[in-house]
Amino acid sequence: MNRRFVAAAVTPVLLLVLCAPVRAQWTPTGPLASVLVVRDCNETGGDVAVSRLDPPTVYLCENVVRLIRKKDPGAEHFYFVHEFGHIALATSDEAAADCWAARELANAPHGGRYLRAAIDHFRRRPDEYSRRYGTPNERAERIRSCAEEARPDDDAIDRPVAPARRSRR
Ligand SMILES: [Zn+2]
Repeated sequence: MNRRFVAAAVTPVLLLVLCAPVRAQWTPTGPLASVLVVRDCNETGGDVAVSRLDPPTVYLCENVVRLIRKKDPGAEHFYFVHEFGHIALATSDEAAADCWAARELANAPHGGRYLRAAIDHFRRRPDEYSRRYGTPNERAERIRSCAEEARPDDDAIDRPVAPARRSRR
């Protein structure tokens, strides 16, 4: 048993202890448990997370994760689950990945906390339209309604705020 081995054995335990105050999060199960998770900001190209199908891999940029966590604690976890949605559904469709993530979180321990964080996060973002995602407000509403469909009786997920739609005359 050399020193490197000891360090390798102790590090995961130490990480667990250090992370203990953080509440349990969604974790991939079944075939998704074997998806590689790689921390590499070059792969994400400035984004918080991206996924690739061959081989199934989720790339995370810890710098961006930290920025999101600092501003909207918990919202960073939604992006992580969202990437697994792309892999689980084998789709590049953003709305489908959002909805998948919302349903997963609706049924996960403390999922309501992360859903609320993500919904608030998108509601607070500048209202810029994206062809892939829609507006952040639309994204927030999509997450809310998909989560509600998964847990229709769950009051933990907040009710919609009437979207401010400008009527055209
Ligand atoms: Zn996506």
